[in-house]
Amino acid sequence: TKPLERKPEWLKIKLTTGENFKELKSMMRSKTLHTVCEEAKCPNIHECWANRTATFMILGDICTRACRFCAVKTGLPTELDLQEPERVADAALQMGLRHCVVTSVARDDLEDGGALIFAETIKAIRRKMPLCTVEVLIPDFLGREASLVTVLEAKPDILNHNIETVERMSDRVRSKAKYRRSLELLERSKRIAPNIPTKSSIMIGVGEEWDELLQTMDDLRAIDCDIMTIGQYLQPSPTHLDVKKYYTPEQFAVLKEEGMKRGFKHVESGPMVRSSYHAHEQVQSATAT
Ligand code: SF4
Ligand code: SF4
Repeated sequence: TKPLERKPEWLKIKLTTGENFKELKSMMRSKTLHTVCEEAKCPNIHECWANRTATFMILGDICTRACRFCAVKTGLPTELDLQEPERVADAALQMGLRHCVVTSVARDDLEDGGALIFAETIKAIRRKMPLCTVEVLIPDFLGREASLVTVLEAKPDILNHNIETVERMSDRVRSKAKYRRSLELLERSKRIAPNIPTKSSIMIGVGEEWDELLQTMDDLRAIDCDIMTIGQYLQPSPTHLDVKKYYTPEQFAVLKEEGMKRGFKHVESGPMVRSSYHAHEQVQSATAT
């Protein structure tokens, strides 16, 4: 298929670079840390960092999987860096974060999928910044329950795992991850740690139908998922999956309404919405009841 011609107006953004921003970037380099904010060239980076929210990518920057929408490099990752949790906590402290999202590449090469490093990172942030909320955005750990338990025992404020797309598109869009396995992970999390809110995100515009989006919401609500975020898929490079459709801001607003009607505690829906966008507000509404 022919790619869509131009990005609509609402997806064009102005980038500004203040002094503070440059300092933060060089601090990341000096600590050899990776943020999704930078690596994914996230359009919200200025707003998020100014609001003291950031997303760290732990366990390296090489992924054992190759999802067709994702800009992260694929390959065989290097060894584990056991000092990484402390460095993430130091960086979070230096940035004065209120909300810290910790995510990783999929480390299918590791026995526990990297769960222990997730747990250590949560604990290190807690030690250094007791008031900072911590959200983990975890891979599916190939369905291993023990890995999920390791993460939940460290008591994150939010357990996030992305469903990414509707069931019919899953195999085409994601690599190795399965729609049902993702639902199962979120369901297990609720069963093991009912007090930790669960969250999932979907990117739209990859070829799904409207009804399928509503079905995905129903599937997430059926396992009592608390928070959902919905954003426009943007192609990271011409070799990645084509954008099939740009949804309008009005359509995103309708999706938010549909989600709220179904009982999510928080739905963040908009063209530029990424999993961690306004994440701090999401924690507040998910824990307010
Ligand atoms: Fe970073 Fe997430 Fe904000 Fe993007 S939305 S800048 S990835 S915290
Ligand atoms: Fe990207 Fe995650 Fe897929 Fe790896 S598993 S390619 S990091 S989306």
